[in-house]
Amino acid sequence: MKFGFDIDDTLINLREHAFHIYNKKLNQSLPIEAFHKLERVEIHEPFGLTDEQGSQMWNSTLEEIYYTTCPPFPDAIELLQELEQNGHEIYYITSRPKEHGERTMEWLRALGFPIKENQFFYGMQDQEKVHIIKKLELDYYFDDKPDVLNTLLEESATKVFVKDQPYNRLVKLPRIVDLSEIKEIIHRK
Ligand SMILES: [Mg+2]
Repeated sequence: MKFGFDIDDTLINLREHAFHIYNKKLNQSLPIEAFHKLERVEIHEPFGLTDEQGSQMWNSTLEEIYYTTCPPFPDAIELLQELEQNGHEIYYITSRPKEHGERTMEWLRALGFPIKENQFFYGMQDQEKVHIIKKLELDYYFDDKPDVLNTLLEESATKVFVKDQPYNRLVKLPRIVDLSEIKEIIHRK
């Protein structure tokens, strides 16, 4: 079967990683509770930044956010390796900017994610992912972002799952909290 995954905040814990970086960079020590309380994708609010400042902060910190020690979610690497070993195809679909595609692929590979170059897509807008997902005829797709998920609500050929996050609770699609649940989903079929 064909499995598609978003990367940031679906396979790896990017926002929380960025939250720690913001604390350091802005010389603050906001508790992690401030992060868990966030109900939007963007993380700048508790630091007292406006949306514009927040977006500047994100872009000027991107390099550090993307390529340092962002941890994968529990079971992510093992699960994808196992799927691949069992003959499934793994596709990555990330809206990380074009100029970060190749490096992101190498960074993930070094962690142990199984990646084939022609099964790694990047640089599209959130709303454009749906076209790639359809074209690839994925059996399963996993993502965290409402802007992406809302384009997939009517999708019947692909089983779309929400990776549960505080900011996507209103999206009415089946959801998983832990990636390990994916194995049960396959067996349930
Ligand atoms: Mg994401």
